[in-house]
Amino acid sequence: MAHGTTAADEVAAAHRALAAAGQADMVWGHAAVRDPEGRGLWTKASGWGLEEITPERVVLLSDDGEVLAGDGPRHIEFHIHAALMRARPDVGATVHTHAEATVAFAALGVPLRPLSHDAVPFLAPDVVRFTGTSDLVATRALGDALATAIGTANGCLIPGHGMVTVGPDVATAVMHAALLERACRIQLSAGGGGGPVVWSSDADVAAKRRNLWTAAQLAAGYDYLVRTADRRFGDAAHGTDVHGG
Ligand SMILES: [Zn+2]
Repeated sequence: MAHGTTAADEVAAAHRALAAAGQADMVWGHAAVRDPEGRGLWTKASGWGLEEITPERVVLLSDDGEVLAGDGPRHIEFHIHAALMRARPDVGATVHTHAEATVAFAALGVPLRPLSHDAVPFLAPDVVRFTGTSDLVATRALGDALATAIGTANGCLIPGHGMVTVGPDVATAVMHAALLERACRIQLSAGGGGGPVVWSSDADVAAKRRNLWTAAQLAAGYDYLVRTADRRFGDAAHGTDVHGG
């Protein structure tokens, strides 16, 4: 597995891992990695699906969206990533997707409950929701407002739109996206059965917050998603043709 050798490799692997986690919405949604040399952020070029991203299909953007390296247009919503990286020195990677379960769950307008391990990183005590707009986060001001709403949290739902997650590294940001989507999907499933009525106690949640999602567990889950992407979509890191899956 040759992911993670450069920022371009790392951000390409992040997109493919998100596809393996079921976060695709055709060509929309993107991850970003902070440039280790301080020039801005690496993200995908627009026009490609998550699983189609190779190191050749990523761009280095300045804080105000200038394409500094790579080919292809940038996404309009790069402001989400730029704002979070300005606001959060602890954040090294960010994810924005339109994962279906997060959109459906946010539309219910009910608290996210700890029905499984997946919700734990987001409960303080409920998941944050950015309600400034459900339109595109297409300006610096909207990006900043979203970053303010997230505060120190690991992510947020954007009702009517999608979700955002962050992490100190790409493995954590992608795993946070996978966990938030699963948490929403599980609660939707329970709702379909008339629930939920039973969930983890506050004490259990506090213990789980310490015990569950260690850096090692997050890295193990992320590595699994990268391997899954390589099997499902072809091993882009080794030049195999990308094909549908
Ligand atoms: Zn979006």
